[in-house]
Amino acid sequence: MKKLAFETLAIRTQTAQTTQKEHATPLFLTSSFTFDSAEEGAALFAKEIEGNLYSRFSNPNVDEFCTKISLLEGAESTVATASGMGAIFVCLSALLKSGDHVIASKALFGNSLYILREILPKWGIQTTFVHLNDLEGWERSFQANTKLVLVETPSNPTLDIIDLAWLSELSHKKGAKLVVDNCFATPYLQQPIKWGADIVIHSATKWIDGQGRVLGGTISGNTQDISACYDFLRRTGVSLSPFNAWVLSKSLETLHVRMDRHCENALKVAQYLEGNPNIERVIYPHLESYSNYELAKKQLQKGGGIVTAIIRGNQKKDGAKFLNQLGLFSLTANLGDTRSIATHPASTTASKLSEEQKHELGISGGLIRLSIGLENIEDIIQDLDQALNKL
Ligand SMILES: *Cc1c(COP(=O)(O)O)cnc(C)c1O
Repeated sequence: MKKLAFETLAIRTQTAQTTQKEHATPLFLTSSFTFDSAEEGAALFAKEIEGNLYSRFSNPNVDEFCTKISLLEGAESTVATASGMGAIFVCLSALLKSGDHVIASKALFGNSLYILREILPKWGIQTTFVHLNDLEGWERSFQANTKLVLVETPSNPTLDIIDLAWLSELSHKKGAKLVVDNCFATPYLQQPIKWGADIVIHSATKWIDGQGRVLGGTISGNTQDISACYDFLRRTGVSLSPFNAWVLSKSLETLHVRMDRHCENALKVAQYLEGNPNIERVIYPHLESYSNYELAKKQLQKGGGIVTAIIRGNQKKDGAKFLNQLGLFSLTANLGDTRSIATHPASTTASKLSEEQKHELGISGGLIRLSIGLENIEDIIQDLDQALNKL
């Protein structure tokens, strides 16, 4: 029989029906679960039998969400965390020990950089940062104690990408594991494990929820690594709430339909911006002008929902002015929503970086990041057009 496809797995993977014969999965809002006897309780604690004990450890809603993510990412196992940052923190804490070394992309989510720069060194774990496009830099940075390599591809906000097949081969040759934060692509557009990555992390808060409602995160990989993450997370309490898991599992049922439209709208926006005289440069992985177009076509099913552009003149005041002229777009610190969102990274998400760091990462004053929503495409473009005309 043919293996079930992505869409079917996202929709039909479900917690066992209860005696109520419900169609949709109910919400299991319970902190703990009961035992039929003292002996059963003892057996559960001794791990002689499987079952739910306490919702910090496991819960049917969380398990359903994790099973879906494993199937969609092609992973053996998944654990879920309270947020995307929880996933990154648990993964690094569970898989590293004092004396280990990490190689990480310079273009990581700001709080991921904070963990690597400020928290892990306190525990004797050092990181070397490399620009995503500096392939020789990746090769050069391995040490005898390098255990993990961490990247986001596409990166935020300049949408740089790296060849995952190449990087996983290099990492494995050097005895390290490759961890990919797959937040921008989602499993629908890119499955890092297929290219050899060992661990995939998500901030489910973004496209997976896709409607700006709840926080959540996941870590997927082989049984051994994920079991180490699980042991750390169930004891330290970074667990995903059953309510958020219930929301996120339902969201996965529509991920493919939403991402198709996000990508379709984003490509149209990218094409429109390329033709606008007030725009100096557009970055979108599935535009032919994209610097790494061949790889983007190979590694990403579609171009994604984020479009990055640089306003002509590349001045910080123009980035701010443009944002203030927008009517439909929301100004908010999120991405991956049904509602289009505009961000000026230089003054917000990247404002903690030094001028030198911003320069190195290409986060210039005139750079704007657009998370393209599901509104009517003509309305989206009209809003951008009237704002650009006022510059
Ligand atoms: C938002 C984000 C995170 C952090 O996720 P939270 O759910 O906000 O904790 C991590 N990585 C990337 C790429 C993100 O965009």
